[in-house]
Amino acid sequence: MINSIRLSILVALISILMLPADTESLAAVLDETVRVAIAKSASEITVAGEGLLVTDETGTPVVISLPASIKPFKDSLQVEGKQFKKLYFSASKSVYVNNKPYRGLAEVSVTDGGILVVNQLPLEEYLVGLINCEISSAWPIEAVKAQAIIARTYALNRKMARIASPYHLESSVIDQVYEGSLIEDSRAQRAVFETSGIVLTYNYEIIQAFYHSSCGGRTESCENIWGMSFPYLKGVSCQYCLTSPTATVWEYKLSLKELEERLKTAGYKISGLYDIKTGSQNSEGRLKDVSILASKGSLAITGEQFRKAIGYGFIKSTRFTLKNMKNEISFTGSGNGHGVGLCQWGAKQRALDGFVSAEILSYYYPGTELKKLSDIR
Ligand SMILES: [Zn+2]
Repeated sequence: MINSIRLSILVALISILMLPADTESLAAVLDETVRVAIAKSASEITVAGEGLLVTDETGTPVVISLPASIKPFKDSLQVEGKQFKKLYFSASKSVYVNNKPYRGLAEVSVTDGGILVVNQLPLEEYLVGLINCEISSAWPIEAVKAQAIIARTYALNRKMARIASPYHLESSVIDQVYEGSLIEDSRAQRAVFETSGIVLTYNYEIIQAFYHSSCGGRTESCENIWGMSFPYLKGVSCQYCLTSPTATVWEYKLSLKELEERLKTAGYKISGLYDIKTGSQNSEGRLKDVSILASKGSLAITGEQFRKAIGYGFIKSTRFTLKNMKNEISFTGSGNGHGVGLCQWGAKQRALDGFVSAEILSYYYPGTELKKLSDIR
């Protein structure tokens, strides 16, 4: 019985992905572009490339020698002694910014005294570049396709939220990691092409497709971490990422002295730190708070605030225990990232277990539906 229900759901889900790409939906997705910040507050950038077309803010072609070194000068750009408000670089293949290749257009301007470079390019080309920055395209293709769909969904959701901003997306873990076309390959291209124009929706709206590296056993509810409640971002059990312990389990040791320094640098006014204690756990098994015990300024902060203060790369999740070894605290944890939405390492294991991308996504985002962009606009 369960197998026959699963089969019928599977058939329904696959049928969405197997629909032939009609002209309208293809046009909708090919027209879609995104603007990604690839350098911010820079004191200097270099731009290079073959056959580059360079124009200023009025669209007038500009002749400069390449590679060009560009610096801010008051509220303008300075290059070879000339000043410009904005410069646009485009090429038939790639524009190199700080030695990395980018497709589409590089828009260079000065914001708050530093250089801002925005890469504007077709959404689908952005996704091909992104895949190997977020996971490995060598993973089972259904996991790679799931990544392509959530990255597309995430990008479009952010684009709608930031439509009036100078750019839609950061190129770091703040949004999605993106290194231009530096590490794109044919499998990344295949996953993007085979899911072209497909997004994850709830009530016909593009969802907030948060995702993370590994959850360590159960994903986190969005409400617990950011105070926003979404019916499709509740915690779900995930034992799948635990099959990749090197990506999931972590340890970190830090002296009390260094811990105190990091907390002070993060703005906490403490002195004489002598212990750290973990507080209660939330509904999904993650730490709600951490107590910092010091001769002056003892306080309790949330698990996420603690991660931020010590470093997200060291305290990889709020699913951890600790031991005080006299002058040193030893942290042991599982999971990497905030834990909300799809667990990438879990998705990999589910794909290895034979699940298709549609099933992987409906597991991590319950109640959502895959739709073509052209069907919801
Ligand atoms: Zn997981």
